Amino acid sequence: MIAYLECLVPETDAEPTPPDGGKGDRPALPDSLGIHGTSLDSCPAIAVRDFGGMASARPLALVCPYGSDDVAHTVRAAASSAHLTVAARGNGHSINGQAMAHMGLVIDMRCLDPGLFKVIPGGPPDGDLPSVVVSGGALWEEVLVRCLEHGLAPQSYTDYLRLTVGGTLSNAGVSGQAFRHGPQTSNVAEMEVVTGTGEVLVCSEKENSELFFGTLGGLGQFGIITKARILLQPAPDMVRWIRLVYTRFAQFARDAERLIDLPDGGGGSFDYVEGFVFVHGDDPVNGWPTVPFVPDQEFDLTRLPHTAGPVLYCLELALHYRTGDRPCVVDSVVKRLLGGLSYVEGLEFHTDVGYSEFLMRVSHAEQQARASGTWDGPHPWLNLFVSKKSIGDFDRTVFNGILRKGIGGPMLVYPLLRSRWDGRTSVVLPDSDEIFYIVALLRFNQPYPLGPPVEALIAQNHEIIDVCEKNGLDYKLYLPHYESEDEWRRHFGSRGWARFIDRKRRFDPMAILAPGQKIFSRRPW
Ligand code: FAD
Repeated sequence: MIAYLECLVPETDAEPTPPDGGKGDRPALPDSLGIHGTSLDSCPAIAVRDFGGMASARPLALVCPYGSDDVAHTVRAAASSAHLTVAARGNGHSINGQAMAHMGLVIDMRCLDPGLFKVIPGGPPDGDLPSVVVSGGALWEEVLVRCLEHGLAPQSYTDYLRLTVGGTLSNAGVSGQAFRHGPQTSNVAEMEVVTGTGEVLVCSEKENSELFFGTLGGLGQFGIITKARILLQPAPDMVRWIRLVYTRFAQFARDAERLIDLPDGGGGSFDYVEGFVFVHGDDPVNGWPTVPFVPDQEFDLTRLPHTAGPVLYCLELALHYRTGDRPCVVDSVVKRLLGGLSYVEGLEFHTDVGYSEFLMRVSHAEQQARASGTWDGPHPWLNLFVSKKSIGDFDRTVFNGILRKGIGGPMLVYPLLRSRWDGRTSVVLPDSDEIFYIVALLRFNQPYPLGPPVEALIAQNHEIIDVCEKNGLDYKLYLPHYESEDEWRRHFGSRGWARFIDRKRRFDPMAILAPGQKIFSRRPW
């Protein structure tokens, strides 16, 4: 028997409870589905909300699977009805309701196989790389903590680790290690996937490869990832974490591009390269105070040239090392790597932290945001990939134009290498150039009326996209959100769309999966 919670009564005040307790027009879960469990008086918040805080959809039930068979059973049960859809919910950190299913079944992937953790030693077929098999519902933070007990760690991350393995693999999973290792989708050896027909299939580059590559970056459209085998590396224990300030985008970009092009590892390059834009002002959220690592590191304004504009740039780097390494050796590697870079002298900052502290750095920001109320407010975030040829124009029109006063949160921008991404996955990248940039506009505003109305921020996001379109910039949305098939078709491009549709026909012909992405409508069997 699968545990599930039937959502009889609306959770939110905004949606009043009808006199019949909410059962009215709502189709009840038919007994023939064979899913049995408890009816609750209110639908748990996780079933109807996400991190974005702007979308809400009430499912018929929230299903808590214990293993892949339960996931398969739920999908097959939905397939046997005329209308039901199924959304896998990872940790619900989507922005626009992507993990929701209006009147469908939401599967809480956090229930799935929490104990699954199997380290596979290095050797063939992945060369010398060890790997670990984990549940699709595991948080990256959990995976990291358990891997470290074995002296191992994943190679590619997201900045924030309280996201699920299945959730980020359905998108890409990008952070400062991706220039070298590619996104998280480039660091998976094998997956177990439940397709839209309820089949449980193991897939890899060699076995069921179309399902494997389709599912990676596939926005949950082709299958539910129940297990994944993630490639690992020996874990370092310390990190030298560095920030360098620039006044000109061209210099910032030239140095960042140079650093991601250095030979891999062995002290020949940094292990992490990111960057962000900040405002030339003392605002604690948007300005200079966001650069130093600790309050006693002074941001010496007299170092900035008089020609500095309204926005400034910060290159963020990290070098791994081991506790036993002599500090002078680490210093000399850093000095060599920073040699010839054109950051503002006197505006370089560094700190030494443990490897896991570095990787879990956003958890500190989470605590602060929770305390200030900006974690729970709406998050109209916008993420884009912009090609090298267009990023200068983007800087001029967006960072120095529309966003020159900041956004009330981080504005990340850093380069990535296309050759580290596998074109067989479903991830969509800009059309041209080996180098492209990720731009992440991560707004953490106070809810209205303390902060700006969310509608104004959404309008600003539209303005940014309009400017990209009008200026003919080569860009794609990352973590895309569209409302119409036409927009999706444009997003994928004609060849990509044909492949996406073909994969949908093969693996989820009734369009049961991930309805919250709003790409396909449920088809009858
Ligand atoms: P959910 O939001 O629950 O689901 C996302 C989509 O994937 C839905 O369509 C869902 O149906 C589907 N899905 C979920 N689980 C599965 C599964 N097991 N199998 C198949 N489909 C599934 N992204 C980055 O790349 N880099 C970052 O540094 C980064 N930082 C972030 C920081 C914060 C604070 C937040 C809120 C988001 C961040 N993201 C980042 C975005 C994040 O990768 C996506 O929002 C991701 O979808 C969240 O994972 P989740 O587990 O919460 O997925």
